[in-house]
Amino acid sequence: MVKPSQDASSCADMYNRVMHKVSRLINYFIPTNYDLNLWLDQPNKSFRGIVTITGVMPESAFEIRLHAKDLNIESVTIDGKTADWTADINDEVVLTRSDLKPGEHVVTIKYAAAITDAMHGLYPSYFEHEGQPKQLLATQFESHHAREVFPSVDEPEAKATFDLRLYSQPGQVALSNMPIEKQVEEDGWLVTSFQTTPKMSTYLLAFVVGDLHKKSRLTKSGVEVNVWATPVQRPASLDFALDIATRTIDLFDEYFGVAYPLPKSDHVALPDFSSGAMENWGLITYREIALLADPATTSISSKQYIATVITHELSHQWFGNLVTMKWWDSLWLNESFATLMEYVAVDALEPDWNIWLEYSSNESILALQRDAIAGVQPVQTDVNHPDEISTLFDGAIVYAKGARLLRMLQQYLGEDQFQAGLRRYFESHAYQNTEAEDLWSALAAASGKDVSHLMSVWLSQSGYPVVSVRSEDNKLLLDQAQFFTSPNSGSQQLWPVPLNSAVTGLPELFDTKELIVDRPEGELVKLNTGDYSHFITNYSPDLLAKLTEAIKSGQLTPLDRLQLLHEQVMLTRGQTAPADSLIELLKGYVNEDNHAVWSIISLAIGELKKYVEDSPEAEAGLKQLAVDLARQQYERLGSAEVADEPEDDRKLRGTVFGLMLYGEDPAAIKAAVDAYQNNSIEDLPGELRPLIISAYVRHHGDLATVSQLLETYRATASADLQTDLAIGITSTRDSSAIEFILKNLLNTDAIRPQDLARWYIYMLRSRYARASTWSWLTSNWSEIRAAFAGDKSYDDYPRYAAGVFFKAEDLANYTKFFKPMMSEPALTRTIEIGIKEIEGRVSLVEAQAPAVHEALTK
Ligand SMILES: [Zn+2]
Repeated sequence: MVKPSQDASSCADMYNRVMHKVSRLINYFIPTNYDLNLWLDQPNKSFRGIVTITGVMPESAFEIRLHAKDLNIESVTIDGKTADWTADINDEVVLTRSDLKPGEHVVTIKYAAAITDAMHGLYPSYFEHEGQPKQLLATQFESHHAREVFPSVDEPEAKATFDLRLYSQPGQVALSNMPIEKQVEEDGWLVTSFQTTPKMSTYLLAFVVGDLHKKSRLTKSGVEVNVWATPVQRPASLDFALDIATRTIDLFDEYFGVAYPLPKSDHVALPDFSSGAMENWGLITYREIALLADPATTSISSKQYIATVITHELSHQWFGNLVTMKWWDSLWLNESFATLMEYVAVDALEPDWNIWLEYSSNESILALQRDAIAGVQPVQTDVNHPDEISTLFDGAIVYAKGARLLRMLQQYLGEDQFQAGLRRYFESHAYQNTEAEDLWSALAAASGKDVSHLMSVWLSQSGYPVVSVRSEDNKLLLDQAQFFTSPNSGSQQLWPVPLNSAVTGLPELFDTKELIVDRPEGELVKLNTGDYSHFITNYSPDLLAKLTEAIKSGQLTPLDRLQLLHEQVMLTRGQTAPADSLIELLKGYVNEDNHAVWSIISLAIGELKKYVEDSPEAEAGLKQLAVDLARQQYERLGSAEVADEPEDDRKLRGTVFGLMLYGEDPAAIKAAVDAYQNNSIEDLPGELRPLIISAYVRHHGDLATVSQLLETYRATASADLQTDLAIGITSTRDSSAIEFILKNLLNTDAIRPQDLARWYIYMLRSRYARASTWSWLTSNWSEIRAAFAGDKSYDDYPRYAAGVFFKAEDLANYTKFFKPMMSEPALTRTIEIGIKEIEGRVSLVEAQAPAVHEALTK
């Protein structure tokens, strides 16, 4: 559990005390098979179901309890005899019959339900084809939404086989986890029976029906891989995903030592989809932007994103689907692993991408930033209420930090031993459920190392250490302490820290408070080489000066350079280093040519923006710094793409062009405006398109322009272009255009609900739109709540505002508005951490702004 800190909210404490632990229905009934028949009445937005569940009532049970939510139950029989049912709290329904005894039973339930637009359970996904409105029907069951489609023991441990029969409209494609066994037309229905699934958890069942086209390929072992999209999407946009998906299955077959267990692997792009993608076994569903790549315009960054999403979901076919966590508190067994495997796989498939650099500039940063806020949850977190399950899917913790911890373990054990341990784990636990200890024992057996000792603290404790290192009298002195960027009550926590250092005399693990070793003459002191461990280093000024010299003389790798700069950003956030020290450090990066390092230079400039927002002079100084840094690379690369140039240069141009535009360099602005005026938006190069649209809108974005661009946004079927347009449109400084955008945020004809949170964060990031966006949020909260309360994006609304606000008045507004909502389990933690995060930033800016102003204006 997270230790409550000094100023932990009394609301949260109260809430924790009264909260009931969610009960496990597998203790009442253990299903072995579901025979599920569903009649999908699309025109009437409803469905009917008959489910027959075979299973065992254990000796300790006296009634059967199932999960069912918003299902209108019409009849229940147990072993063919009528039974009674009553609804209970926590989505439970209790089935009883006077003579019911433990043992095997067959439960049959008839029910009906409505199809709603909320993007979980069973929901429609809308699109327009050749002027006609159309819809698909799709499912999203993770984490606990299967209960909205059929009564079930909706818990990961309750694995069973599924026989699904769908009655849908003729003329449509019907897909589920398994291939079709039989398909006939009967009484106006298309009746599709699917082959029996392997034993699996309810949250992995899925189906999609509608108008879809596909491209197919076979893996080396003969698994059929299909990529599907609506007819609006061009066939060529399926090719990239098909290639990556097929090669990934080949790779994992070999890497995991257990072949992909199903006969086919479908990948479907859905127009409406709440998260990025979902790993349903054999039927992976995606947002269109996470699967489809236009060969002409999709940027390299977008292709890399698509590749990591596909490898993530495919790794789940083993991690999560074949072997599943016993309960949601071990969600990291799914998500941390899948996040690590994204990079392991993409590095093997596309070695030229240097994807581990992207890992360090994405996952590492996400994890280090969020995990430094007091009160954040650990990777392994208890779950007490069904609504809390969704909140565990925290990108920074269970995904990014968890992946970093596993990467740390992989390097500590050695990559071969780690892989051997995983193979052992899959062999012993296939089609079963596991907890952390099962994995540790497989990895320990393969490596001979004490895995549990290293990992238990890291998983169960939130936060991470800053290791301070200084040199004194030929000695090196190390000290570790928990690192915070928010108010906190202090911490005595220690970690076993793999130091990953080539410095002579340093141990492999640093697990004490302090350490003193003889300092070898002349060696460069650098810790955490490879960014393998989850800590940051605070070098004393003399050691830091030596590292900065090493950067200038080209002795450090791009990863070292990236890491050092980001660590300094973190140290300034924690007020361990003064904020103005970033400015001097940045000047040392003027000769930098690596795109990933440049993304951190850009991040560091962004970090300084909050100090200068209210000082035009200091802001001018920061803009000048951005231009001074970026000019050399901008002049080398120019503002237009060059055929056959290296991909790194193409990505780097985006970053340095962006910095030149931020710095309001007249020639750069002219280049962007000219590019906008001389090309159709569709033809602008993907890597530069958001910058070009933003630059135009920033300088010429009146109401007419913005309204026309929003119409282009509405009309296009390209999710890539929509993202670029959203970035561009929200760059407007025109107050009437800002009001117009806010008026349209909840207009689902203009902006799909799945994209609302994205528009909201873009608007909040704009200083011109921030205040009116906040007031839009507070006045429309009831609508937002109604649309998203059951959705994983619900806590994005308090989370995003907390990530942006840095003024005392914003803190007061935030607290006043959100604190009363802390009794909602889906929001409690996010709001509690959000308040701390803003408090930390407000005090940081108050303390550091004067020195930053001085450094930028001298
Ligand atoms: Zn995942």
